[in-house]
Amino acid sequence: MELIENIKALVEATKKLKDRKIMELVINVETSLLEFQSEFDRLRERTALLEKENEALKMQKEISRNLSYEKGVYFNTIHGDREGPFCTRCWDADYKLVRLAVQKSGIAQCPECRSFFEYEYK
Ligand SMILES: [Zn+2]
Repeated sequence: MELIENIKALVEATKKLKDRKIMELVINVETSLLEFQSEFDRLRERTALLEKENEALKMQKEISRNLSYEKGVYFNTIHGDREGPFCTRCWDADYKLVRLAVQKSGIAQCPECRSFFEYEYK
């Protein structure tokens, strides 16, 4: 950051003046600037985290809008294409859209939470 480089140069230049009061003021400004920089970095990281969470929430909202509950499982319809079945437990508890493994017997199992569902694919 150019501002920090400038303040460091100012501290060095002030040392040559040998004026105790000015030196004290410049060091106070440098300290405040470093604290500001630290807070700025913390807020930048926090903002990035919140943006990531916001994206995840938007995605959850979009999926929820297209999710339908049918015969104990979820289906997702996007652009007219129907996908599923998906585990209700994983979506309801963790917002994970996990496709169920459907067996010929009509039993489906979630590979994530291992829940079983009675399901007959039609
Ligand atoms: Zn599950």
